[in-house]
Amino acid sequence: MGSGALVLNATYEPLCVVSVRRAAILVLSAKAVCVADGEGILHSVRRQLPVPSVVRLTRYVRVPYRSHVGLSRRAIFARDGWRCAYCRGPAETIDHVFPRSRGGRHAWENVVAACARCNHTKGDKTPAELGWRLHALPGAPKGMAWRVLGHRAPDPRWADWLDLPEAA
Ligand SMILES: [Zn+2]
Repeated sequence: MGSGALVLNATYEPLCVVSVRRAAILVLSAKAVCVADGEGILHSVRRQLPVPSVVRLTRYVRVPYRSHVGLSRRAIFARDGWRCAYCRGPAETIDHVFPRSRGGRHAWENVVAACARCNHTKGDKTPAELGWRLHALPGAPKGMAWRVLGHRAPDPRWADWLDLPEAA
């Protein structure tokens, strides 16, 4: 039950992740409807309820636009599809494209997922110095799914509502 529940707006846009208990309260108070069940049954005083995995709010809520997406290791991997930016192999490390040791910033535009081998080989050189090319120019991710990512690993049951890149 530790995985939490995904909350969708009335328009099916992902909003946030809450505890399963909180999601159940939303459903029981008719503020949300369950659109995907998790595993197990919750028992309350008056009724039983399948553990909610995804709930949708019955009324649309306006969400203030948040332009800044938190830069976390998990969010970087998710943005880059868990692939190395240099060789497209499975990524397991984070690389600063312009090395930090030479003043490179820790920012969306300067971080990429990388495999351990490329990261080690690259060391404190720039891709240009090695003749390497980035698969794509890094930048801050956009879209509602990013409200949910960066905090936790998304439950596979949420995939239909989060437009996620394929995991490696
Ligand atoms: Zn690599």
